[in-house]
Amino acid sequence: MSRDQDLAHVRNIGIVAHVDAGKTTLTERVLFYTGASYKIGEVHDGQAHMDYLAEEQVHGITITSAVTKAPWKDHLIQLVDTPGHVDFTIEVERAMRVLDGDVIVLDGVRGVEPQTETVWRQCRKFALPSLFFINKMDRPGADFERAMETMRKRLGADPVPVTLPLPQRTAVVHLIEETLIGFSGENGEQLHSAPWDEEIRTLAQPLRENLLLAVAEWDEALADQVLAGDKPDAEAVWQALRKATLAGKVQPCFGGSALHNYGVQPLLDGVVRLLPAPLDRPPSLARDLTGKEEIVAMDAKGPLVALAFKVQLWDGRRHVFARIYRNSLKPGDRIVIPDRDGHLVQEQVARVFDVDAGKKTRVNEAHAGQIVLLAGLRWATTGNTLCSPEHPLLLESIEAREPVLSLAVEAVSSADEEKLLEVLDKLQQEDPTLRLEEDEETGQLLLRGMGELHLQIVFERLEREFHLRVRAGRPLVALRETVANSATAEHLLERVLEQDHKGADVKARARVSVEPLARGGGVDIRVEPLVKPDGSLLTDLQREAIEAGARDLLGGGPYQGVPLQDLFVRVDEIELFGQASSPEALRAVTAQAVHRAITQAGGMLLHPIMAMEVSVPKENLGVVLGDLQARKAVIHDTDSQGETVTISCDAALDRLLGYTTELRSMTQGRGQFSMIFNRFDVA
Ligand code: GDP
Ligand code: MG
Repeated sequence: MSRDQDLAHVRNIGIVAHVDAGKTTLTERVLFYTGASYKIGEVHDGQAHMDYLAEEQVHGITITSAVTKAPWKDHLIQLVDTPGHVDFTIEVERAMRVLDGDVIVLDGVRGVEPQTETVWRQCRKFALPSLFFINKMDRPGADFERAMETMRKRLGADPVPVTLPLPQRTAVVHLIEETLIGFSGENGEQLHSAPWDEEIRTLAQPLRENLLLAVAEWDEALADQVLAGDKPDAEAVWQALRKATLAGKVQPCFGGSALHNYGVQPLLDGVVRLLPAPLDRPPSLARDLTGKEEIVAMDAKGPLVALAFKVQLWDGRRHVFARIYRNSLKPGDRIVIPDRDGHLVQEQVARVFDVDAGKKTRVNEAHAGQIVLLAGLRWATTGNTLCSPEHPLLLESIEAREPVLSLAVEAVSSADEEKLLEVLDKLQQEDPTLRLEEDEETGQLLLRGMGELHLQIVFERLEREFHLRVRAGRPLVALRETVANSATAEHLLERVLEQDHKGADVKARARVSVEPLARGGGVDIRVEPLVKPDGSLLTDLQREAIEAGARDLLGGGPYQGVPLQDLFVRVDEIELFGQASSPEALRAVTAQAVHRAITQAGGMLLHPIMAMEVSVPKENLGVVLGDLQARKAVIHDTDSQGETVTISCDAALDRLLGYTTELRSMTQGRGQFSMIFNRFDVA
């Protein structure tokens, strides 16, 4: 087989879900049925194959993007593991960037849940075709059609049923093949397929008609057959459904129970038949260093383009997961990595590995479409584009989120201090949403992350994996400030600057105005000054100095000393005094004038506001809402699905510390919530 034919048989997919929908259980079944794992590891045994990091087994959630191979019927399904908790959505996004399709798992009782909406949005962002697995159909109250209805209502999706689960028979009805599929054997590994009898036909025919009508739009011949009441060929139905799925117009739905071993193999057939191969994916957009756009198709020829999507320490060494988009990578290859400022970092690939869960195998070459692990790169980090030195490009970069929560950390034993610093530095390299800083005043180590769970997992890794005992301070929330009003101020600088050894006169005057901007407005700086005394234009050097001066003091506002934002700074007037108005003088005078204007305008504190979704049983709604109001949350919407109500709201992170525990006790452990940083705002 040629390489392209090989690649045509590869499916890079992610399995994503709201926590507890059954992602890990389903993954385990997939690995078992495909022969990738010999033993089924139940989640509650802490045995699961993909969750090979110790702390994941404790939390029962998955936080690393390992790649696992699952061969299925002449095809290779590559599972890219994506994390399930919303604190790690950045990890989900990184992983999604390199997927070609996904399977979204729903709980058959609960249907679409808050995090389902989050992952769905992410899938749309990367235009990923999705299949749905409606799981837990064995549970009382599970309802396949109602779950599809929640997809329509809450996701705006267009679900098309493919397998209808029959829990009482531990079987599924295949709506394309018109078969009833039973599962037996210890782990449901034996399939029995029978044609529909009258009873099944009565039950399944209406759903099959839905399916046929949905796909008929994608194939004229099929449409004619369906309208004429003829029975179309199953193969033609698959092909039309594939077309509609790849176009993102419909989402094929499969039902079953991962735990009770039915419905999973037909889903795997669906992955192979309906989801794209790497070469079926639309090309990516990149830019060269001058900003010119270039379309990068998945291609064996042309200058190298690859995307680093995860850094992981492996046997204590730095390794980088990357997806190759164009050309190939071999051990010894020299590459460059352009940064945002257009600088190029030179690197050399030492080794290239093929990865399968916790196992890596050296290869001599890897090609476009493949996901590989690279050793020897010292600087490459998540989101970087790896390119040929002759043709540097930047792929659209993965969005980075603000780490809005910090904790002071120290080693319990002072003998461990150095090791702690080393380990935290390594962890920070793996995870760009984690930042290590030193408090200038206290000299304390500060660890910043995206939420309490994020930081908690880091601490557990320190203890479990690196045997470090650490003490943490109280969580601190990142703050910003902005100005409360508009103000104008003037400053006259008239002195000898310290740097100026010649002792020449230094003199300049600036007048600036500041204005508050709407939330999310960032910092906008404009230099359009009236230059006195002669009204001449500023030179580039002078303009740059003034702009730098306008930014100089924005890192710590006059109100609380935290960074300023949502602010418009306009330099209105500059007075030059010949030689005495050097660029240094202009920078200093502008900074002082801005400082005065901001002080005069008055400050206002901005808190990180989180967008939250809280799902609770109906009977707990009152107390949960009351508590949210006490936390000054702004409630946008409540939506009930059966016995569960989902509250959408905004709240300041400062008032949400410890919410996990509180919610658990208010709802006897049944409530769930997710939150994600939204903006800095008054609270
Ligand atoms: P994840 O958080 O999405 O990875 O979900 P898990 O796979 O960890 O499953 C969460 C819980 O649901 C575990 O207790 C599983 O045993 C259980 N579970 C998973 N699949 C099923 C299913 O098909 N039926 C039932 N009744 N329980 C299931
Ligand atoms: Mg899991």
